[in-house]
Amino acid sequence: MKTLTKVLLTSVTVALLAAKWNAPTFNAESLRGAKVLVTGASTGIGEEMAYHYAKFGAQIVITARREKVLQQVVEKCLSMGAQKAFYIAADMASDSDPEKVVDFALDQLGGLDYLVLNHIGPTPFSMWEGDMEHVRWLMKVNFFSYAQMTWKALPSLERSKGSVVVVSSLLGKLTSPFVAPYTSTKFALNGFFGALTHELAMKSSNVSITTCTLGLIDTESAMEKVKDISHVRAYPATEAALNIIKTGATRQRELFYPWYTYIVTLVRDFFPGARDYFIQKSYSYTP
Ligand code: NAP
Repeated sequence: MKTLTKVLLTSVTVALLAAKWNAPTFNAESLRGAKVLVTGASTGIGEEMAYHYAKFGAQIVITARREKVLQQVVEKCLSMGAQKAFYIAADMASDSDPEKVVDFALDQLGGLDYLVLNHIGPTPFSMWEGDMEHVRWLMKVNFFSYAQMTWKALPSLERSKGSVVVVSSLLGKLTSPFVAPYTSTKFALNGFFGALTHELAMKSSNVSITTCTLGLIDTESAMEKVKDISHVRAYPATEAALNIIKTGATRQRELFYPWYTYIVTLVRDFFPGARDYFIQKSYSYTP
């Protein structure tokens, strides 16, 4: 084995072990009665997070656009052990709905401990053909609303020593074909919340920010997009959701799930030519 490869493998192994040893222990009791707002919770990872929080005995507000589905998720949360569960239908592309949702959660729960930002607008998985209207709309849904809700919730989170949990993606660290508008919104989130993390630390704020880098997860919407085009293994949404919750509850700066997202992030700039070759070859595409 070449020396460089040995050094790389050893460095990655040491980094992984160090991260594991230093990870704080999760205490499920800390979530009993916690006041949580989860966005994009009508389906997928958001829905799974709502159920986990419910089992931990949290007080939950969930939001998305489809009222009927939200109502069913709330009923299930209550049956699973949530101390309280409410929903509010809202469109994150609207200028006013993001703040309205935070106000609703503050009113219903009397404060907030966790703001879990998870929603994304539907976006095509295809070559970008110049649709600027869609790029603007997706930025509103996937990025502007995150910044807006965070600003609105910060005073309450400051009082409760609370947390903002931002669900991002490996596509916020690494570019890939077919997802130009989506990957832009995730890079924007990583940049924005990275800067905000510095600023809160410099102000000695009580609020922690956790940014989650996820790989492919087996939600219906993701599977529908990649089914004929990618052979990457998809990891279970319920496990992704639990990892997000635990990382937020232990106030860690970042989650990488599954494990390979951490390795990819570490080595992505070592060999850019080879990286781009393998990314492009991982898709079955004929022009
Ligand atoms: P999903 O199943 O597509 O769910 C998206 C959620 O957002 C739904 O609850 C949807 O509900 C809501 N939503 C869509 N448009 C909205 C709008 N305009 N206003 C308000 N809510 C809206 O997504 P997911 O696969 O669970 O992904 C969840 C998070 O994980 C996202 O941040 C995603 O980027 C990240 N992630 C996922 C994967 C993956 O492979 N699944 C990989 C990396 C990162 P309504 O339709 O009812 O509004």
